[in-house]
Amino acid sequence: MNITDECIACGSCVDSCPVGAIIESGEKYAINDDCTECQACVDTCPVSAIVE
Ligand code: SF4
Ligand code: SF4
Repeated sequence: MNITDECIACGSCVDSCPVGAIIESGEKYAINDDCTECQACVDTCPVSAIVE
């Protein structure tokens, strides 16, 4: 999964990830290689910035 530039850095998605793969990255958030593609985070984003 990836986080697009639409991210408003609200942080809502962070706690939804069971493996802690969502991290702060500069002024936005990013998904690291620990991601298992479970998609649990997708619906937590208010601006639909989390995409495959
Ligand atoms: S898809 Fe699952 S493992 Fe990957 S960042 Fe989202 S919640 Fe975490
Ligand atoms: S929920 Fe969406 S807007 Fe908020 S930090 Fe995560 S990716 Fe960015």
